[in-house]
This record gives sequence, C-alpha cells and structure tokens, in this order.
Amino acid sequence: MSFCAGIQAGPPIEVFALTQAFTTDTFDKKVNLGVGAYRTEESKPWVLPVVRKIEQLMAADQSLNKEYLPVLGLAAFSQAATKMLLGDDSPALADGRAVGIQTLSGTGALRVAGEFLARTCGRTTIYSSEPTWENHRLVMLNAGFQEYKSYRYWDPATRSLDLKGMLEDLRAAPERSVIILHACAHNPTGVDPTPDQWKQIAEVIREKNLFPLFDSAYQGFASGDLDKDAFAVRSFVKDGFELVCCQSFAKNFGLYNERVGNLTVVTSSKEVLANALSQITLLIRGMYSNPPQHGARVVATALNDPTLYQEWRVCIKTMADRIISMRAGLKERLIKLGTPGNWDHITNQIGMFSYTGLNVEQVEYLRNEYHIYMLKSGRINMCGLTNANLDYVAGAINDAVN
Ligand code: PLP
Repeated sequence: MSFCAGIQAGPPIEVFALTQAFTTDTFDKKVNLGVGAYRTEESKPWVLPVVRKIEQLMAADQSLNKEYLPVLGLAAFSQAATKMLLGDDSPALADGRAVGIQTLSGTGALRVAGEFLARTCGRTTIYSSEPTWENHRLVMLNAGFQEYKSYRYWDPATRSLDLKGMLEDLRAAPERSVIILHACAHNPTGVDPTPDQWKQIAEVIREKNLFPLFDSAYQGFASGDLDKDAFAVRSFVKDGFELVCCQSFAKNFGLYNERVGNLTVVTSSKEVLANALSQITLLIRGMYSNPPQHGARVVATALNDPTLYQEWRVCIKTMADRIISMRAGLKERLIKLGTPGNWDHITNQIGMFSYTGLNVEQVEYLRNEYHIYMLKSGRINMCGLTNANLDYVAGAINDAVN
C-alpha cells in the first residue's frame, strides 16, 4: 500500500487547465484569452529587448559568480524596487522606516508577508476583494491565517466598483484584520478605485484599526506610468500608515519564470523595522534559505542605470499601449455590431484583464462554438487579442450575447 493511499485528487487549477485545453485544440482560428501573461501582436510571449541586452552583459561579465545571496536577497535590487514603489522622495525612505526584501516573485512576497503577519504578528483574519486573484486564498491559508474572508468589490449591475459594499464590509471587519488591496490594475476586474475613493477606503482602514497589505503585480504595466500606478501605496504611506506591499516583476519586466519579487515593509519607526526584519530573516531562512540571483540582477541593472531604465520604460509603455488599443478595438467593434449592453467598462477598466460581464453559459458557448477560451468568470486577458483576431472575437461575443 502506498504511503499516500487514501489521498483524494485536488481540484484542477482553472487557468492551467484552460491553457492545456487550448493547446490541444486543433482549430486554426482558436483564441486564448485565458492566460495571465503578455502576448505580442503576433500572439507570442515577449522577452523585453532591454532584458536580453542585460542578460548578454551579464553573460560576458566574468566578475559575476554563483555564490549564495544573503537571506534577504540582492540589496541593489530590493533597494531599487522599494524606491520604484515608494518614489524617490518618500518620507518613509528618508526616515529609514521602509525596507525591501527580495522574494520569489509576487506570490513569494505574499507568502512571506502572510507568514509574518499571521505567525509572527498574531493576526488571524485576512480579507481580499470578491472577486480577486484566485491564489490569495490558498497562499494566505497556507501562510497561517485562521480565516480568509472577502469584501464586496465588483458591482455586476454597473460593471464597476461597489464602493458602498466595500466600505460596509471593511467597517464590519474585526479590528486588526489584514486587508489585501490591489495597488493597481485589479485582477480580475480591471477596476481600480479613484483617488477620492482610495481616501474613503483609507479612512475606514484607519478608523477600524485594520492593516493594509498591498499587492502590486502591475506597476507601470497598467497605465504605462510607474508613478501613476503607485498612487495608492504612496498616498497610504504619505498618510502615515504602516503597511506591507508585495511587488511582482513578472509582468512589468516579462520575467515570469525568473520569480523576481520584492516585499516592502513600511513601519512607524526605524527601531520596529529592525526587529521585524530579523524575524522575517528567520522566516525565510526556514522556508527557502535565500532567493536566486539572475532575475533580480537583471531588474537591479535596469533600475540602476539611467540609459537602461529609459529603455525599460519604453518597453512598458509599448505593452500598456498595445493593451489599451485592444480595449478600444474590441469596444468599437461591439458597438458597431450593435451588441446588446453597455461596453464602456471595456475601456474604463485598466491593466491586462477585463471582466467582460459574460456569464458562464456565454463563456461556454464561445469555447464550444468559436474555440475562444476564457475563465468561467468572464475574465479575459486583453493581450490575447490582436488586430488579426479582433473581428472574429467581437463577432463571436456578439453572437453569444444575442
Ligand atoms: N498578485 C496578483 C494580483 C497577480 O495577478 C499575480 C499574477 O498573476 C500575482 C500576485 C503573482 O504573480 P507572480 O507570483 O508570478 O509574481
């Protein structure tokens, strides 16, 4: 008898199952709107030219070696990443109250932050938006939270933010609950609060003694502007909040499988930060000991060299602009076709994803009849669209809705 006899198979992970089904589909016009990664106009993954260039420089640099990094990672990377998030003139950086820790991409940052908050700081309850990135739940329960709950976020009627519901749910949360907030380009809805709405959210978080955990997976990639996409985090820091922020460099550097992430911790004083850092060091030492170097060095090189930094900014603008143009192209076609409903949300939403409002039956219809793949929630990745397939996809959506 096997040592794991009696163990049931777990449920499939929707996004990976979808890609598998798409890959085996032999229909020539098939379209994958389910993936969570950037695609070019030719439907191909994109290695950023600046990344290729830095990798070539690194390959030629005989001074680089494969020694272990420290437990908290490459300082040149984490310092630059933290500065990119908080801004050059951040009061928290100037006071020495903020620090960055290299992690295993955004997921790794979330896990380290979760373990620190649950196991070290004794927080028991965590909230994320409904809907949210589907992995928040698993990461946070595995990190040691006793309860994972949701606050309202998406209003299906208006296809926009349910601010009233969100504030009500936050007001009703037990004190000291941790609140996951998407820093920008909310996944999966593409709906972000406005600056004024962020103010109202911040007021409730302060009033109810909640703790903000930002998830920043799309800085720069969302609007093409790094500062604009960091607005929410910076305004919380400016208002004097203590917080943590989990940064991913998967999307904005196209470094998905290199697992480059940063956990920024902002505290009220230098002294508490030192203690927090020593506890996080022990957590990481016991979890994976230390992070890998390659991707972090690529990012550190780009962020710390003015010429390469400029080249990278051009790359993120290229990606953001292509996504924005696909949004406009889809909306324009649906309006032209007279597809029932209001499609303003397609261009009002931001980032890679759009919550189309298509229901499960429509999603299934699109897959069965047109070989167009998307998540059951109706979330689509705008990068799956190209000028070559826009007419086909718009026509199919029109058919599914009618
Ligand atoms: N958070 C959000 C909201 C995401 O959308 C993602 C990836 O899709 C992540 C975190 C984690 O990404 P990674 O671990 O690849 O950096």
